[in-house]
Amino acid sequence: MKLKKHLGQHLLVAKGVLERIVEFLKLQEEDIVVEIGPGTGNLTKEILKKNFKELHLLEIDPQMVEILHKNIQRDKVFIHREDATKFNLCSLGEDLKVVGNLPYNVASLILENTVFHHSCIPMAVYMLQKEVAEKIQKGASWLSTFVRTFYRVEYLMSLPARFFVPPPKVQSGLIRLSRREELPKLDLEDYKSFLVGLYSMRRKALKNKVPETILLKAGIDPMCRVETLEPDRVLMLYNMLQKLRGEKR
Ligand code: SAH
Repeated sequence: MKLKKHLGQHLLVAKGVLERIVEFLKLQEEDIVVEIGPGTGNLTKEILKKNFKELHLLEIDPQMVEILHKNIQRDKVFIHREDATKFNLCSLGEDLKVVGNLPYNVASLILENTVFHHSCIPMAVYMLQKEVAEKIQKGASWLSTFVRTFYRVEYLMSLPARFFVPPPKVQSGLIRLSRREELPKLDLEDYKSFLVGLYSMRRKALKNKVPETILLKAGIDPMCRVETLEPDRVLMLYNMLQKLRGEKR
């Protein structure tokens, strides 16, 4: 079978790694599991060895979907031909464990979609391009802060390209998102646009993006750059701005 590069089809064939990925999910009998980009079902077969309530597979490629229908025939398993960057994950249940060796070209969009559905996703374990995985865990970008506002991010392990068929051009990294106990209630679209604006033109001092009075009130040097701010400070700024907007109304 010919694998499709534009769909990020790099199959993970290292059995030991597949087992470990599933271990990180800590599956229990009552869990509803969602696998993104199951491909031919390598990871799926490892999941099937565990106890769970339901397993949903989200795969965009009709050819893969056909293979899955042949390879994976089980009750409790549901195959959906869907685009995971847009799919309404919460339509599958209220408490989902999401896992996937993601298509790297759309991994950021899948992360974003995960955050938009955090209300029904307490945990996710994702294989990504190493550089992206590291940046999400500790870098300064709008997406990293978006993710870390709602999730604790652990970097679990790195993987060389030779574990995949065909080997990708980049190294890979596995991360786990565990939802925070205290979740801020906010308008996600609005928060996202605030973050995108805040992290654009990074070299500019913060005072060009946020009113100086607010920065001073928050104890933040108006001359500093956005990358010096931890996600919780960014959230605090957002909340202060929201309050101000409310008062002006
Ligand atoms: N999990 C498998 C395959 C990983 S490759 C393994 O480890 O062996 C990534 C898979 O994601 C491919 O099967 C590809 O067809 C699928 N995919 C690509 N874009 C997708 C999207 N937007 N939504 C869902 N699946 C997608």
